[in-house]
Formats: sequence, C-alpha cells, structure tokens
Amino acid sequence: MPFLCSGIRYPERLGMGRGDKMAISSKLRFEIFKRDGFKCQYCGRKTPDVILELDHIIPKTKKGKDDVQNLITSCFECNRGKAGTPLEQVFVRKDLKEDLCLLAEKELQLKEYNKLLARKRKREKRDINKVNIKVQELSNGTKVLGDPGIRSIRFFLSIFPVEKILEAFELAYNRLSDKSDHPDIGNVFKYTCGILHNWRRRQNAQ
Ligand SMILES: [Zn+2]
Repeated sequence: MPFLCSGIRYPERLGMGRGDKMAISSKLRFEIFKRDGFKCQYCGRKTPDVILELDHIIPKTKKGKDDVQNLITSCFECNRGKAGTPLEQVFVRKDLKEDLCLLAEKELQLKEYNKLLARKRKREKRDINKVNIKVQELSNGTKVLGDPGIRSIRFFLSIFPVEKILEAFELAYNRLSDKSDHPDIGNVFKYTCGILHNWRRRQNAQ
C-alpha cells in the first residue's frame, strides 16, 4: 500500500483496518476483483467509476473466513449499505488523509484494471494474428483480414478460444472444397462465421 495509508483507520472490509491489518493480501484482493470482473457484485458498477472493496459473505464476526469462497467484490457504497451504516456516517470521519488514501486505492485499482485490459488486448492481438495466418494459408497468401473481418473475429474471440475459430475455418474450407477445388476465401469466411454463430447458439441453448 502507498505509505500515505499507514496508520489510517481504514474501513475494515478493505482488509487492512481496525486490528485486522493486512489480513487479506493485495494478491488475494486482486484475484477476487479479477474473478468478479472488477465489478461490484451488488450494483454492477465497475472500476474506475467506484472504489472496490472486498465483502465477507459470512461476516467475520460470524467466523467467516478470509478466503476465495467467502469474499466477494463490492463497491464502497454497497458495502456500507450492507453493513447497515448510513453513508453520511461513513463520511463524517473523512479527513484529508483518508481522502488521499481512497484516491491512492482508486489509482491502484485502476492500474490493476488497466494491466488486465492490456493483457487481454495483447492476447487478442496474438489470436487475430493466428487467424490471419490461417486466412493467408487458405487463400494461398493472397488475402488477409480486413477491418470488418477483424471486428467479426474479435466478437467471436469474446466467446470462443482461438483454436475453435481456426477449427471453424478448417471445417468451412473443407466443406466448400467438396464443391470446388479452390474455394473463394470470402465464402470460406462467411461459412466460418455461420458455423461459429451456430456453435454460439448451441452453447447458449445449453
Ligand atoms: Zn455497488
């Protein structure tokens, strides 16, 4: 934690206040934030709109543990609401130091969130590249994905791993090859999207 926060009476559920100093490690906190998609599980608001905290499903006072099963991401407000403390009371004690502490916390969360996004973008870029190699291969090096194609692939990557998408390309190519020796890559692409949409529907129906 930033040094600004040392010695501050921080809300207990952040896991570092009131005799409960650093009971929950930063690593565990961010693991849970990531699991919950950096989103308050009560109201659905996300970083950076709100400050996120951890909430114990079974309260600590009732012997709830500091573990993955018993912790959930909550925003500051929902957490206070659940604790039965009116919001105004929480802010009565708020001084400049605490303000800075919350700001630091928010920045830290934003940094973690951006790191996660960057990793996701990097993975997506790598996956799109794999699809592009497949397109080149199937078109004898004459075609690559254009912007609309990339948009479609990006959409499917949000649903399927890249291996599934490459598998759909193979399937589409093989089916169209039955009809002509050198299937048009544009048709292969359309057929691939059709297959992926079918898989998506089937997955949703389950
Ligand atoms: Zn909330």
